[in-house]
Order: sequence, then structure tokens, then C-alpha cells
Amino acid sequence: MHFACVSCGGQLVFNPPTAGMKCPSCGNEQPIDAAADQPAERDLLVTLEDLRKPAEAQTVNAAPTKELVCPNCNGHIGFIGTLTATRCPFCATPVQRSDIKDAPNRLPVDGVVPFGIDTPSAEGKVKEWIGARWFAPNDFKKYSKAGSFSGVYLPFFTFDAQSYTDYEGERGDNYTVTVGSGQNRRTETRIRWHHVRGAVDVPFDDVAVGAESSLEPDRLRDLEPWPTQAAVAFRAEYLAGSLSRSYEKNLDVCHGEAVSRMNDDIAHAIRSDIGGDHQRIHRADTSWSKQTYRHLLLPIFLLVVMFQAKPYQVFVNGVSGEVHGQRPYSWIKITLAVIAALIVVGIGLGIYYGSK
Ligand SMILES: [Zn+2]
Ligand SMILES: [Zn+2]
Repeated sequence: MHFACVSCGGQLVFNPPTAGMKCPSCGNEQPIDAAADQPAERDLLVTLEDLRKPAEAQTVNAAPTKELVCPNCNGHIGFIGTLTATRCPFCATPVQRSDIKDAPNRLPVDGVVPFGIDTPSAEGKVKEWIGARWFAPNDFKKYSKAGSFSGVYLPFFTFDAQSYTDYEGERGDNYTVTVGSGQNRRTETRIRWHHVRGAVDVPFDDVAVGAESSLEPDRLRDLEPWPTQAAVAFRAEYLAGSLSRSYEKNLDVCHGEAVSRMNDDIAHAIRSDIGGDHQRIHRADTSWSKQTYRHLLLPIFLLVVMFQAKPYQVFVNGVSGEVHGQRPYSWIKITLAVIAALIVVGIGLGIYYGSK
């Protein structure tokens, strides 16, 4: 798929400042003809049952498209129009046209949170984060390893559900007793337990689980909360000029992770329902209803630098501009490598050579 510029025939890309399309060759802008509709919630159980059928009998999957498959990290990366990336956005390995493969059937994307900031703003955020004052320009050359800086959409499944949990347990209340005599006389705190039984209703909205496996889960969680309420129904235009990672963790695996997070919340609700100073949960039977999911793409910018043959990743939330970097074991050396990579990818030169 390709979105052509009506004035010069160039390839339009999504332009975050206007939330429309813009031609990088002639500057022509075209609005995206999109109703700001919310992406549909899909029935979870119906889809999970469909996915258990043989591939040819499944009805929920989208037709195969082309994907770039990284020869190093095996990331499956979708793109719209002509592939312009020369390096994998996740591990900075050079990629070739021959790495483009037919994508397997996949669940269709329901919604996108479009990029809210453009590439120059994201670069500015990374520069601020690095802080120019640490370095001398001469040190850059030693670390002139290749890097990549790309806007990438990451796949998520978000889950909604109603839960009703019937539980049994014990409530513990503290009381004090005086023991001993003479010099040994003292008070001790003891716990009186009694049996309790009850039920809690806990609703869940947009529990978001990352569906790719290349990024550290903790680092992805750092970028939360995601403004999933800002998701709009999927249109390919939003992906023009960006890369998008395809999901590698299936819907049922992601649902399992979501359930484990939701069970933690339910246990928390039970403990506060029990009250007292201590709680024990002996039994919790949850029935679920109104279970739905959405397959969403969420935007990040990803800077990858190679340092001693290992990729280091710096993330920028594509909506808020918040930056999070991988914790380096050698902060200064890694930062030098980051700066060298910024120079290699063509940004940041002025500010660093201009600093003292
Ligand atoms: Zn044009
Ligand atoms: Zn890769």
C-alpha cells in the first residue's frame, strides 16, 4: 500500500503535528478522512475459540501482508509503502530487501494511538535526556558505532472484563496481652482470627499487555500509562512513514498475563473487603463476564546503539515524549555511544560540538 502525493507523486507520511498526511518532498498536506471513532471491542471467547480451529477454518484473521523479518533478532516489522529503513529499529542490524517476507495470518489491528510528537521533537527529548555537559567531542570517534532511531508502533492487546468473586478466608484482629511478672512483665500483640465469607465485584477496563517479546517488559511498563482512550479506529494512513512491530505473543498468552494482573487486583479487593489487621484468603472463585479485547498499536521512538556488540535501547513515549533508557553498566561510555549514534544517524551534531 502506498499513499501518493496529489501534487508531486511522492510518498505521503503521517504528520503528528497536524494528525494528517504530509509529503516530505513538496510539503503538500492532506487531511486524513477519519471519523474519530473508537475502535470496536471484540468478543474474547469467540476469538479464542476461533483461534483453536485449523488455520484454514479461522475467520478472524486478516489476509497476509508483507513484513520485514530481522535476520538478527527475528522481529517481524510491518511497513506501509516503500521500506525506507536500513537497519532493524530494535537491534540496529542492517536489513536488506531480501529480508521482506510474507506475513502469516494475524488478528487484524483494531485501533491505533497515533504519534503525538514528530521525529525532531523526539530527538530533542533524547538530547535533553542525555545532557550535553558530560563530554568532550574528541571522545565521540572512539564510539562511532552504528545506531538507529525510528518511530515504531508496538502491538498490544487490551482487555476489558467484569469479575464477580466469591471468597472465603479469615480476618485477623490484633489484641494485646500482658505476660510475665516482675522484671519480665511486658505486653505482647496477638492475633484473633475468625472465619469470613463474602464477594467482590471488580470491573476492568483496558488492561494493556505488550504482545512483542524483544523489549524488556519492565521497561515497557515504565512507559505506562498508555492513553488507550485516545485510540482511534485503525487506518493504514497512521502507519505511513513508521514501522510497526507485529505481535509475537498470541492472544491467549497475553490474556493469561492480563488475568494474572487482574487476579492481583481482585486479591487486593478481597483483602480490603475483609478488613482488620491481617487477612487470609482460602478460596476465591471468580466468574468472568463481558470479556472483550482490542488489538492496538501504540507509538514509541526507539534509539538503539551498539556498544561492545550489544544493543542498548532508549525509548521515547510517542505520545507524551517521556524518555526511558536502558540502565548502562558504564554510564559515561554508553552515553558516548548514544551520542556517537545520534551523529551517525544525522542528529545532534550542532549541539554537542557547540558545547564546552
Ligand atoms: Zn508532494
Ligand atoms: Zn533486529
